[in-house]
Amino acid sequence: MAEVVSPIDAQVLASVAPTSPAQVDAAVRAARAAQPAWARRTGSDRARVLHRIADLIEAQIDDLAATETRNTGKILSDTRREVRRAAGSFRYYAGWAEQVRGETIPVGPEYHTYTVPEPHGVVAGVIPWNVPFFFAAKKIAPALAFGNACLLKPAEETPLTALALGDLLVEAGIPEGLAQVLPGGRETGAALVSHPDVDLIVFTGHHDTGKAIARAAADNLTPIALELGGKSPQVIFPDADLDRAVEAVVLGVFASCGQMCIAGSRLVLHESIYDEVLDRVAARVRTLRVGDPFDAQTDLGPQITAAQRDKTAAFIAETRSAGRMVAQAALPEDERLRNGFFVPPTVFDRLDEGARVLREEVFGPVLAVSSFRDDAEALRLADDTQFGLAAGVWTADIARAHRFAGQVRAGTVWINTYRVLSDLVPFGGIGLSGYGRENGTEAARLYLRPKSVWTSLASGIPQGYGMGGAGAAG
Ligand code: NAD
Repeated sequence: MAEVVSPIDAQVLASVAPTSPAQVDAAVRAARAAQPAWARRTGSDRARVLHRIADLIEAQIDDLAATETRNTGKILSDTRREVRRAAGSFRYYAGWAEQVRGETIPVGPEYHTYTVPEPHGVVAGVIPWNVPFFFAAKKIAPALAFGNACLLKPAEETPLTALALGDLLVEAGIPEGLAQVLPGGRETGAALVSHPDVDLIVFTGHHDTGKAIARAAADNLTPIALELGGKSPQVIFPDADLDRAVEAVVLGVFASCGQMCIAGSRLVLHESIYDEVLDRVAARVRTLRVGDPFDAQTDLGPQITAAQRDKTAAFIAETRSAGRMVAQAALPEDERLRNGFFVPPTVFDRLDEGARVLREEVFGPVLAVSSFRDDAEALRLADDTQFGLAAGVWTADIARAHRFAGQVRAGTVWINTYRVLSDLVPFGGIGLSGYGRENGTEAARLYLRPKSVWTSLASGIPQGYGMGGAGAAG
């Protein structure tokens, strides 16, 4: 049994039995057995079931958000928004279920050629602990909409709302075995992603885990999409709206106690505004309230585990001796929280370019600040990372903004905003941030694969040569 602990006060919330490799095998078999009939249903029929799931989620937003806050330590307004967005994802992909279509390809007068998009079969979704309910929905909803089965493994630390979602799937009428939540840790995940009967793996998590999963997938040649971490820059030019930029920088790295893949953890400031913006960021950070995530006045709660808190604290201690600590927020004084896994939001500057905090993902509330002289240096600093998940650029000069967006190495670029995401807009990374894209039309590409069908229209013996671009091969 694995204990599920609240990071707010270290209380044990539940004990959850991990799914054994034998149970994973049984789950894959059941999913495989259930999937063909689900894929044969009409899109509108699948859509109806997905809307029912969304209805059930919406009826329980408060309960689900409270459980999520208790389990993750994230503030209630964030978890409410995430649960609402999860319901929205089921509705969004319900729309897609009715929009699947292939194409006819006029290769020449002697052939009628078309494609049929088909589901892969059994999808394995593996997710991290930072956005448990929404990420569970983000994997399950498109998998089901496009006719797949889905086996979802939540993180060992935060299985509670994913398990609740599993119950809602059953209540909504999802056929037995088609979509299952398999709690457990690394062993359960490894058994799932190395299973030869899994047809697609969609993973969100750390890049080292991503590499291990890619290796396991290679043995079966299972297709895979990896949404991994980041070390994303926010670049501010002198002509930017500094009020908006400062607030977006602070929330962009310190929300969720820094536990966001898209955290804008590097701030790159033009030298002419360096002191002013740094002072404003520092002043704002000192006002941040770290504390009980159920309190509406709280800006950020604890880190997820004692180990994550210790890792972040070690980063802060190490960086204090490698640079200048510009600002730090206060820790909560509330006695009830004394066992919680809290760390103070902290800002550093004057770091060597090789400093670990500029290169490695902290996944905690730590911001590293540096300066640039011109556009070329801004781009060089923004790209000075092996990650490539996201970047923010702040300027009133629209040409400069789009030049930067075109050149920076990142899967998502935000201009004069940060941290906005939508089911409609593709999302994914470059380099250590992973490969593959989720959301929107990219989800259709990910969760479906086209089958090509050739029909001969010729009356004689088909030759296959020299017909308007079509020719024999292979
Ligand atoms: P993690 O990689 O340690 O764990 C993620 C999941 O993988 C968990 O469910 C875990 O049990 C499972 N797992 C671990 N080893 C496995 C293995 N060998 N085979 C199969 N599954 C295995 O990540 P974490 O610490 O839970 O989450 C933090 C990381 O996730 C950060 O790096 C963060 O940037 C990243 N993340 C990325 C995105 C994105 O969309 N790009 C979003 C959120 C978080």
